[in-house]
Amino acid sequence: MDKKIVVLAGDGIGPEITSATVVTLNAVAQKFGHNFEYDYRYMGGSAIDKFGVPLPEETVQACLASDGVLLGAVGGPKWDAQPAENRPEKGLLGIRAALGLYANLRPAVIYSELADASPLKPSVLAKGVNVMVVRELIGGIYFGPRKELDDGKTAYDTEIYSEEEVRRIAKVAFDLAMTRNKKVTSVDKANVLLSSRLWRRIVIEVSKDYPEVELNHMYVDNAAMQLVKDPSQFDVLLCPNMFGDILSDEASQITGSIGLLPSSSLGTCKAGLFEPIHGSAPDIAGQDIANPIATVLAGAMMLDNMDLHEEARAVEKAVEKVIALGYRTPDMGEGKRVGCAEMGRLIAENI
Ligand code: NAD
Repeated sequence: MDKKIVVLAGDGIGPEITSATVVTLNAVAQKFGHNFEYDYRYMGGSAIDKFGVPLPEETVQACLASDGVLLGAVGGPKWDAQPAENRPEKGLLGIRAALGLYANLRPAVIYSELADASPLKPSVLAKGVNVMVVRELIGGIYFGPRKELDDGKTAYDTEIYSEEEVRRIAKVAFDLAMTRNKKVTSVDKANVLLSSRLWRRIVIEVSKDYPEVELNHMYVDNAAMQLVKDPSQFDVLLCPNMFGDILSDEASQITGSIGLLPSSSLGTCKAGLFEPIHGSAPDIAGQDIANPIATVLAGAMMLDNMDLHEEARAVEKAVEKVIALGYRTPDMGEGKRVGCAEMGRLIAENI
């Protein structure tokens, strides 16, 4: 299969972690007989240096025409003095809007060999953790009407959802559940909020098209508690924007590791955006010590979005194998010490 992948290496460790990931994608292409074509474009600080803006129009057009966008990370002290409207992060917000990315997916997985890094007790982790948080990304209270009144002494924001906004994100969650353990927990506050009642009604409606998937509902306060009490009970956690913002950070902290977790944002065009959850780590840039695993796993999420599921599982299994063999970048603790490029090469070798 031919696929066109835009690579936005970005800033800081971005070029190192994306190039290690391309090595693993090449191994996938070779093993499964695909042809991946890479289109390298600029976004963030590197785009400011070259084009004067964080998101050149030609980058947007290339992303729109691609099958998937792999992003390293953007930002760094070099561009801190830029005016707010021209900062590297503006590139990220701009590309999300341009691609209509309404669904943010963040898996949180515990690798048993790295369980020591988790703040939770081994007894809580014993049953394993493999949660996929599906967060609605461009609706809800962050985008509803807001105002300051009485010279700023009073203010309001509005949680607002339409049936269509809930339906499309619910479909993403149920489709994902079908490729996983067929369980969706929908988070809301339907005992208090009207918008949550609408959310719950539409989620139930969508669930009827997925009779194999078990659906349950959980109030957000209980979900926050259950995530640390027994994270093994969750498969797909479907959340409105603000609840998902909070719970996805909580879920990622359970795994205890910033260098291992990927995320994807999906939307109205075929290309999603796939990136690590961490930033550009300027403190370790250019030293070949960054952990590329989060970006490699973001690459696996991109393969899933291209319907290359077997290929995605092969990448995940290779990562598990390399961790089980004891290879560690410095952030992962004691073990057979490897750098960023070597970690990418080892994962590729095990695909
Ligand atoms: P950060 O995630 O870049 O780094 C936090 C700490 O984690 C640092 O000590 C760093 O060395 C370490 N770290 C991060 N990724 C690592 C990896 N793969 N391997 C090993 N160690 C890793 O967060 P920060 O320092 O707050 O931000 C740095 C820059 O990144 C800022 O300019 C920020 O705006 C930007 N940022 C970008 C994104 C993005 O592009 N999506 C997200 C967050 C922050």
